[in-house]
Amino acid sequence: VRDTSLDLLLPGRTIHTTDSAGRSVAIRVMRELRGAPAQQDPRIERLMEQAASLIQSAFPRWLGIVMGLSFPAGIFTLQALFNNSVPIWAFAAPYMLVMMSIFSFLVRRRMRTIGPALGQLFVQEGICAGCGYNLFGVSPHNGVVTCPECGAAWAENDIRRSEPIVLTSAEPLLRDQARRGFRAYVNNLDRRSATDDAGRVFAPVRMRMLRRVRATAADEHREALDAAISELRFAGCVPRVAGGLFFVALAITVAVPNFMVVARLRSAFTLMTLFPMLMMLLFGLALLASDAFRPVKRVVKVLRQVGLCPSCAQRIDCLAPSANALVTCPTCLCSWKTTSASPVQPA
Ligand SMILES: [Zn+2]
Ligand SMILES: [Zn+2]
Repeated sequence: VRDTSLDLLLPGRTIHTTDSAGRSVAIRVMRELRGAPAQQDPRIERLMEQAASLIQSAFPRWLGIVMGLSFPAGIFTLQALFNNSVPIWAFAAPYMLVMMSIFSFLVRRRMRTIGPALGQLFVQEGICAGCGYNLFGVSPHNGVVTCPECGAAWAENDIRRSEPIVLTSAEPLLRDQARRGFRAYVNNLDRRSATDDAGRVFAPVRMRMLRRVRATAADEHREALDAAISELRFAGCVPRVAGGLFFVALAITVAVPNFMVVARLRSAFTLMTLFPMLMMLLFGLALLASDAFRPVKRVVKVLRQVGLCPSCAQRIDCLAPSANALVTCPTCLCSWKTTSASPVQPA
């Protein structure tokens, strides 16, 4: 399933990093893995989500709003200034060009700053940041692992985990495809980011993930998940449910009567009028199913309190800290300061 929001965010642009030989490497790993069967490996799925959060974290939320508003605001202002004495295209076209180059400059500058972190994210998991080749089994020379696919060189010490990618040979059912598609759509709505105690950007765990992990968890892990779920269940639910119901209601009350009128025309045009209704319905349902408006800080805090990793919901309270007093989550490689030695209690 393609993640189109990133394509919109990065039209034809590539983020670069430098490999251990000091060469500039274009990070094409996300483009290579996106939609590939490898993405169904939970490890790769989490990695892609983490990378998407990292890219999004480079763009503050106001940038999108400012970009969206600047075009109508600027053009209306100019139109008022010229008092209709000049045709609209004469000032609208140069204005658009200037604004586009300013935003394009901002985007490029911000993308340069996240390049090294984005590259590291994949290299740490033993995936070539250049081309997405799994470096599992590639033997290092003088502490450097060279990608057999694209020739990028990565320091052996930077690779923190090296594992084969788990591929399923079974042809996915249409139902599974649809479910994955809907999940990707929802993930675009509520993608957020936070930083762990080592300053690494991660994607905070969503409610759906908490429930999915709970289905197979046992004993204390299950208890911790139960505590976290009941604590977070209603966080931010008022704007989410209100927003979701608003769009579902809009689809039904506006689009259905409209469709009933047009349906009598009995043409292909009739089906086209269904499209906006379906989009509104989909958006409303996705919003209801999403984690939008659930405060990230609260999610992280609650999960830390019950001794779970805020990124993957696995237990971190039973891990021994390393020399720098941080524990590294073995599942997602995030680092956390150890909380006090006292047993962790749900809030
Ligand atoms: Zn490569
Ligand atoms: Zn984790």
